[in-house]
Amino acid sequence: MTRRLVPLCLLAVFTMACNEATTSPEPGDASVAESQALFKKVGAATPAAQKASAHLQQLNDQLAQAGADYAVARAELALSPKAGPDQALIVFANDRMLRLNSRWVPGDARRFADGANLTHLYYQAFALANGSIDSEPAIDASFETWAAAQCGNVPLVKRADQGVFPSAVFFGGDPFVADIVTLGFLPGLIFDLVLGDGAAEGVLGVTFTFVFGSFDADGNFTPSDIDNNGLEDTALKEVWYNDDFAWNTDGVTDIDNTDIETVAFHENGHALELGHFGKIAINASSGMLVVSPRAAMNAIILGTLRSPLGTDNSSFCGNWAKWPNR
Ligand SMILES: [Zn+2]
Repeated sequence: MTRRLVPLCLLAVFTMACNEATTSPEPGDASVAESQALFKKVGAATPAAQKASAHLQQLNDQLAQAGADYAVARAELALSPKAGPDQALIVFANDRMLRLNSRWVPGDARRFADGANLTHLYYQAFALANGSIDSEPAIDASFETWAAAQCGNVPLVKRADQGVFPSAVFFGGDPFVADIVTLGFLPGLIFDLVLGDGAAEGVLGVTFTFVFGSFDADGNFTPSDIDNNGLEDTALKEVWYNDDFAWNTDGVTDIDNTDIETVAFHENGHALELGHFGKIAINASSGMLVVSPRAAMNAIILGTLRSPLGTDNSSFCGNWAKWPNR
Protein backbone atom coordinates (compact mmCIF):
# COMPACT_ATOMS: atom_id res chain seq x y z
CA MET A 1 0.00 0.00 0.00
CA THR A 2 2.45 2.60 -1.22
CA ARG A 3 -0.10 5.38 -0.97
CA ARG A 4 0.32 5.31 2.80
CA LEU A 5 3.85 6.63 2.31
CA VAL A 6 2.88 9.75 0.41
CA PRO A 7 2.49 13.02 2.30
CA LEU A 8 -0.93 14.14 3.40
CA CYS A 9 -3.01 15.53 0.59
CA LEU A 10 -4.82 17.92 2.85
CA LEU A 11 -5.89 21.28 1.60
CA ALA A 12 -7.70 24.24 3.02
CA VAL A 13 -9.18 26.21 0.19
CA PHE A 14 -9.98 29.77 1.04
CA THR A 15 -8.39 33.17 0.98
CA MET A 16 -7.26 35.18 3.94
CA ALA A 17 -7.66 38.80 4.85
CA CYS A 18 -8.29 40.99 7.82
CA ASN A 19 -11.88 42.14 8.03
CA GLU A 20 -11.51 45.89 8.42
CA ALA A 21 -15.22 46.43 8.84
CA THR A 22 -15.25 44.57 12.12
CA THR A 23 -11.85 45.36 13.56
CA SER A 24 -11.36 49.00 12.45
CA PRO A 25 -7.60 48.71 12.81
CA GLU A 26 -5.22 51.63 12.95
CA PRO A 27 -2.31 51.42 10.52
CA GLY A 28 0.43 49.40 12.12
CA ASP A 29 -1.85 48.18 14.86
CA ALA A 30 -0.12 45.25 16.56
CA SER A 31 -3.45 43.46 17.00
CA VAL A 32 -3.87 43.32 13.24
CA ALA A 33 -0.48 41.68 12.78
CA GLU A 34 -1.36 39.25 15.52
CA SER A 35 -4.71 38.37 13.99
CA GLN A 36 -3.11 37.82 10.60
CA ALA A 37 -0.51 35.54 12.14
CA LEU A 38 -3.25 33.58 13.86
CA PHE A 39 -5.22 33.50 10.71
CA LYS A 40 -2.49 31.85 8.69
CA LYS A 41 -2.96 28.85 10.90
CA VAL A 42 -6.62 28.48 9.98
CA GLY A 43 -7.08 25.32 7.99
CA ALA A 44 -3.43 24.34 8.06
CA ALA A 45 -2.59 20.66 8.37
CA THR A 46 -3.14 20.63 12.11
CA PRO A 47 -3.28 17.38 14.08
CA ALA A 48 -7.08 17.62 14.16
CA ALA A 49 -7.30 18.14 10.41
CA GLN A 50 -4.85 15.29 9.77
CA LYS A 51 -6.96 13.03 11.94
CA ALA A 52 -10.05 13.98 9.97
CA SER A 53 -8.31 13.33 6.68
CA ALA A 54 -7.04 9.97 7.89
CA HIS A 55 -10.54 9.04 8.99
CA LEU A 56 -11.95 9.74 5.54
CA GLN A 57 -9.16 7.64 4.07
CA GLN A 58 -10.06 4.77 6.41
CA LEU A 59 -13.57 4.94 5.00
CA ASN A 60 -12.17 4.77 1.48
CA ASP A 61 -10.08 1.74 2.47
CA GLN A 62 -13.30 0.07 3.60
CA LEU A 63 -15.03 1.01 0.36
CA ALA A 64 -12.08 -0.36 -1.65
CA GLN A 65 -12.22 -3.66 0.20
CA ALA A 66 -15.97 -3.83 -0.40
CA GLY A 67 -15.49 -3.32 -4.14
CA ALA A 68 -17.42 -0.05 -4.15
CA ASP A 69 -17.50 2.15 -7.24
CA TYR A 70 -17.46 5.35 -5.18
CA ALA A 71 -15.29 7.08 -2.61
CA VAL A 72 -15.54 10.02 -0.26
CA ALA A 73 -13.86 13.02 -1.86
CA ARG A 74 -14.27 15.81 0.65
CA ALA A 75 -16.09 17.18 3.67
CA GLU A 76 -17.06 20.85 3.70
CA LEU A 77 -17.59 22.33 7.15
CA ALA A 78 -19.79 25.23 8.25
CA LEU A 79 -18.17 26.89 11.25
CA SER A 80 -19.43 28.77 14.24
CA PRO A 81 -17.69 32.12 14.83
CA LYS A 82 -16.47 30.41 17.99
CA ALA A 83 -14.47 27.84 16.02
CA GLY A 84 -10.80 27.70 16.86
CA PRO A 85 -8.28 29.18 14.43
CA ASP A 86 -6.95 25.71 13.69
CA GLN A 87 -10.28 24.42 12.43
CA ALA A 88 -10.16 23.28 8.81
CA LEU A 89 -12.93 24.39 6.46
CA ILE A 90 -12.62 21.53 4.04
CA VAL A 91 -11.11 18.09 4.53
CA PHE A 92 -10.01 15.73 1.80
CA ALA A 93 -9.42 12.01 2.11
CA ASN A 94 -5.78 11.22 2.81
CA ASP A 95 -5.00 9.85 -0.61
CA ARG A 96 -2.84 11.24 -3.39
CA MET A 97 -5.59 12.30 -5.74
CA LEU A 98 -5.56 15.89 -6.83
CA ARG A 99 -9.18 16.58 -6.10
CA LEU A 100 -11.20 18.38 -8.71
CA ASN A 101 -14.64 19.71 -8.14
CA SER A 102 -17.57 17.43 -8.86
CA ARG A 103 -20.98 17.70 -10.48
CA TRP A 104 -24.13 15.62 -10.57
CA VAL A 105 -24.56 13.78 -13.88
CA PRO A 106 -28.19 13.84 -15.00
CA GLY A 107 -29.73 10.39 -15.30
CA ASP A 108 -26.65 8.66 -13.84
CA ALA A 109 -27.63 4.98 -13.58
CA ARG A 110 -24.88 4.32 -11.02
CA ARG A 111 -26.82 6.27 -8.41
CA PHE A 112 -30.20 5.04 -9.69
CA ALA A 113 -30.99 8.60 -10.73
CA ASP A 114 -34.60 9.62 -11.15
CA GLY A 115 -34.00 11.07 -14.60
CA ALA A 116 -32.89 14.68 -14.32
CA ASN A 117 -34.42 14.99 -10.85
CA LEU A 118 -32.23 15.23 -7.77
CA THR A 119 -33.76 13.38 -4.85
CA HIS A 120 -33.35 14.15 -1.16
CA LEU A 121 -34.32 12.27 1.95
CA TYR A 122 -34.51 13.15 5.63
CA TYR A 123 -33.61 10.25 7.90
CA GLN A 124 -36.17 10.41 10.69
CA ALA A 125 -34.17 8.78 13.48
CA PHE A 126 -32.04 11.89 14.08
CA ALA A 127 -34.54 14.54 12.96
CA LEU A 128 -35.07 16.14 16.36
CA ALA A 129 -32.70 18.99 17.14
CA ASN A 130 -31.77 19.39 20.81
CA GLY A 131 -34.10 16.51 21.61
CA SER A 132 -37.34 18.37 20.92
CA ILE A 133 -37.21 20.61 17.83
CA ASP A 134 -38.71 19.14 14.66
CA SER A 135 -36.11 20.25 12.14
CA GLU A 136 -37.71 18.77 9.03
CA PRO A 137 -39.84 21.80 7.99
CA ALA A 138 -36.73 24.02 8.11
CA ILE A 139 -34.71 21.53 6.08
CA ASP A 140 -37.52 21.21 3.54
CA ALA A 141 -37.84 24.99 3.29
CA SER A 142 -34.14 25.31 2.51
CA PHE A 143 -34.50 22.91 -0.42
CA GLU A 144 -37.58 24.78 -1.65
CA THR A 145 -35.69 28.09 -1.59
CA TRP A 146 -32.89 26.65 -3.74
CA ALA A 147 -35.43 25.08 -6.09
CA ALA A 148 -37.03 28.51 -6.56
CA ALA A 149 -33.75 30.41 -6.97
CA GLN A 150 -33.06 32.29 -10.19
CA CYS A 151 -31.69 30.10 -13.00
CA GLY A 152 -33.63 27.42 -11.18
CA ASN A 153 -35.29 24.48 -12.86
CA VAL A 154 -33.45 22.28 -10.41
CA PRO A 155 -35.93 19.44 -10.00
CA LEU A 156 -35.51 18.64 -6.31
CA VAL A 157 -37.76 15.76 -5.30
CA LYS A 158 -38.20 14.62 -1.72
CA ARG A 159 -38.29 10.92 -0.98
CA ALA A 160 -39.90 9.41 2.12
CA ASP A 161 -37.69 7.76 4.69
CA GLN A 162 -38.35 4.03 4.56
CA GLY A 163 -36.36 3.38 7.72
CA VAL A 164 -33.24 2.15 5.92
CA PHE A 165 -30.05 3.49 7.50
CA PRO A 166 -28.76 5.75 4.71
CA SER A 167 -25.23 6.66 5.79
CA ALA A 168 -22.26 6.27 3.47
CA VAL A 169 -19.97 7.87 6.06
CA PHE A 170 -20.87 5.22 8.61
CA PHE A 171 -20.62 2.57 5.91
CA GLY A 172 -24.04 1.27 6.77
CA GLY A 173 -27.39 0.51 5.21
CA ASP A 174 -28.11 1.86 1.75
CA PRO A 175 -26.58 5.27 1.04
CA PHE A 176 -28.26 5.39 -2.38
CA VAL A 177 -31.82 5.72 -1.06
CA ALA A 178 -31.62 9.30 -2.34
CA ASP A 179 -29.03 11.54 -3.94
CA ILE A 180 -28.88 13.92 -0.97
CA VAL A 181 -29.29 12.38 2.48
CA THR A 182 -29.82 14.51 5.57
CA LEU A 183 -28.69 12.14 8.29
CA GLY A 184 -29.84 14.59 10.96
CA PHE A 185 -28.63 16.05 14.24
CA LEU A 186 -25.75 14.03 15.65
CA PRO A 187 -23.88 14.41 18.96
CA GLY A 188 -20.79 16.61 18.93
CA LEU A 189 -18.78 13.59 19.99
CA ILE A 190 -19.35 12.12 16.53
CA PHE A 191 -18.08 15.33 14.95
CA ASP A 192 -14.89 15.10 17.01
CA LEU A 193 -14.42 11.44 16.10
CA VAL A 194 -14.89 11.90 12.35
CA LEU A 195 -13.71 15.48 11.78
CA GLY A 196 -11.03 15.81 14.45
CA ASP A 197 -10.75 17.31 17.92
CA GLY A 198 -12.46 20.67 18.22
CA ALA A 199 -15.18 19.94 15.68
CA ALA A 200 -17.74 19.40 18.44
CA GLU A 201 -17.31 23.02 19.54
CA GLY A 202 -16.65 24.65 16.17
CA VAL A 203 -18.50 22.85 13.37
CA LEU A 204 -22.23 23.53 12.96
CA GLY A 205 -22.76 21.30 9.97
CA VAL A 206 -20.94 19.27 7.38
CA THR A 207 -21.61 18.04 3.86
CA PHE A 208 -19.73 14.95 2.69
CA THR A 209 -19.29 14.53 -1.07
CA PHE A 210 -18.78 11.07 -2.56
CA VAL A 211 -17.77 10.63 -6.20
CA PHE A 212 -17.89 7.69 -8.59
CA GLY A 213 -14.81 5.96 -9.92
CA SER A 214 -12.82 2.80 -9.41
CA PHE A 215 -10.32 1.41 -6.93
CA ASP A 216 -7.29 -0.49 -8.20
CA ALA A 217 -5.79 -3.53 -6.49
CA ASP A 218 -3.77 -1.30 -4.16
CA GLY A 219 -6.84 0.64 -3.12
CA ASN A 220 -5.98 3.72 -5.13
CA PHE A 221 -9.06 5.50 -6.40
CA THR A 222 -9.49 7.05 -9.84
CA PRO A 223 -12.59 9.24 -10.18
CA SER A 224 -14.70 9.02 -13.29
CA ASP A 225 -15.93 11.76 -15.63
CA ILE A 226 -18.50 10.01 -17.81
CA ASP A 227 -19.96 13.25 -19.16
CA ASN A 228 -16.52 14.64 -20.04
CA ASN A 229 -17.06 17.99 -18.35
CA GLY A 230 -13.67 17.99 -16.68
CA LEU A 231 -15.25 17.39 -13.28
CA GLU A 232 -15.65 14.33 -11.10
CA ASP A 233 -19.07 12.68 -11.09
CA THR A 234 -20.94 13.14 -7.83
CA ALA A 235 -22.24 9.89 -6.34
CA LEU A 236 -24.03 11.15 -3.25
CA LYS A 237 -24.10 13.85 -0.61
CA GLU A 238 -24.55 13.28 3.12
CA VAL A 239 -25.35 16.16 5.49
CA TRP A 240 -24.97 16.26 9.27
CA TYR A 241 -25.84 18.89 11.88
CA ASN A 242 -24.07 19.18 15.24
CA ASP A 243 -26.54 18.69 18.07
CA ASP A 244 -24.11 20.15 20.65
CA PHE A 245 -25.17 23.62 19.44
CA ALA A 246 -28.41 25.31 20.51
CA TRP A 247 -30.73 25.30 17.50
CA ASN A 248 -33.99 27.09 16.77
CA THR A 249 -36.50 27.56 13.98
CA ASP A 250 -37.27 31.19 14.92
CA GLY A 251 -34.61 32.87 12.83
CA VAL A 252 -32.28 33.59 15.74
CA THR A 253 -28.57 33.32 14.98
CA ASP A 254 -26.11 34.82 17.43
CA ILE A 255 -23.08 33.58 19.33
CA ASP A 256 -25.16 31.11 21.35
CA ASN A 257 -28.05 30.24 19.03
CA THR A 258 -28.34 29.06 15.45
CA ASP A 259 -31.25 29.09 13.01
CA ILE A 260 -31.65 25.63 11.49
CA GLU A 261 -32.84 26.85 8.10
CA THR A 262 -29.81 29.14 7.74
CA VAL A 263 -27.33 26.28 8.11
CA ALA A 264 -29.53 23.94 6.07
CA PHE A 265 -29.59 26.48 3.24
CA HIS A 266 -25.78 26.59 3.37
CA GLU A 267 -25.33 22.80 3.52
CA ASN A 268 -27.79 22.19 0.72
CA GLY A 269 -25.88 24.74 -1.33
CA HIS A 270 -23.00 22.26 -1.06
CA ALA A 271 -25.42 19.50 -2.05
CA LEU A 272 -26.01 21.55 -5.21
CA GLU A 273 -22.24 21.81 -5.75
CA LEU A 274 -21.68 25.35 -4.52
CA GLY A 275 -18.38 25.95 -2.76
CA HIS A 276 -17.45 28.35 0.02
CA PHE A 277 -17.18 32.06 -0.61
CA GLY A 278 -15.65 34.98 1.28
CA LYS A 279 -12.53 36.07 3.09
CA ILE A 280 -12.12 34.88 6.64
CA ALA A 281 -10.42 36.73 9.46
CA ILE A 282 -10.29 36.80 13.22
CA ASN A 283 -11.78 39.77 15.01
CA ALA A 284 -8.81 40.86 17.09
CA SER A 285 -10.92 42.17 19.96
CA SER A 286 -13.41 39.32 20.29
CA GLY A 287 -11.26 36.46 19.00
CA MET A 288 -14.21 35.33 16.89
CA LEU A 289 -14.01 34.31 13.24
CA VAL A 290 -15.59 36.69 10.74
CA VAL A 291 -16.09 36.51 6.98
CA SER A 292 -16.88 38.99 4.22
CA PRO A 293 -18.48 39.81 1.87
CA ARG A 294 -21.69 38.27 3.07
CA ALA A 295 -23.07 35.18 1.34
CA ALA A 296 -25.11 32.14 2.23
CA MET A 297 -22.03 30.15 1.20
CA ASN A 298 -19.74 31.87 3.73
CA ALA A 299 -17.95 29.13 5.67
CA ILE A 300 -18.58 31.04 8.91
CA ILE A 301 -22.25 31.35 9.90
CA LEU A 302 -22.55 34.96 11.11
CA GLY A 303 -26.32 35.45 11.20
CA THR A 304 -29.64 34.25 9.93
CA LEU A 305 -29.66 34.06 6.12
CA ARG A 306 -32.21 31.78 4.49
CA SER A 307 -31.94 32.88 0.85
CA PRO A 308 -29.21 33.49 -1.69
CA LEU A 309 -27.29 36.77 -2.04
CA GLY A 310 -25.46 37.98 -5.15
CA THR A 311 -22.54 35.57 -5.30
CA ASP A 312 -24.74 32.68 -4.22
CA ASN A 313 -27.03 33.40 -7.15
CA SER A 314 -24.19 33.73 -9.64
CA SER A 315 -22.59 30.47 -8.47
CA PHE A 316 -25.93 28.73 -8.57
CA CYS A 317 -26.64 29.98 -12.09
CA GLY A 318 -23.20 28.83 -13.20
CA ASN A 319 -23.99 25.33 -12.02
CA TRP A 320 -27.64 24.99 -12.93
CA ALA A 321 -28.77 27.38 -15.67
CA LYS A 322 -28.40 24.74 -18.37
CA TRP A 323 -29.31 21.61 -16.40
CA PRO A 324 -29.78 18.89 -17.55
CA ASN A 325 -27.80 20.01 -20.59
CA ARG A 326 -24.20 21.23 -20.43
ZN1 LIG B 1 -19.93 24.97 4.03
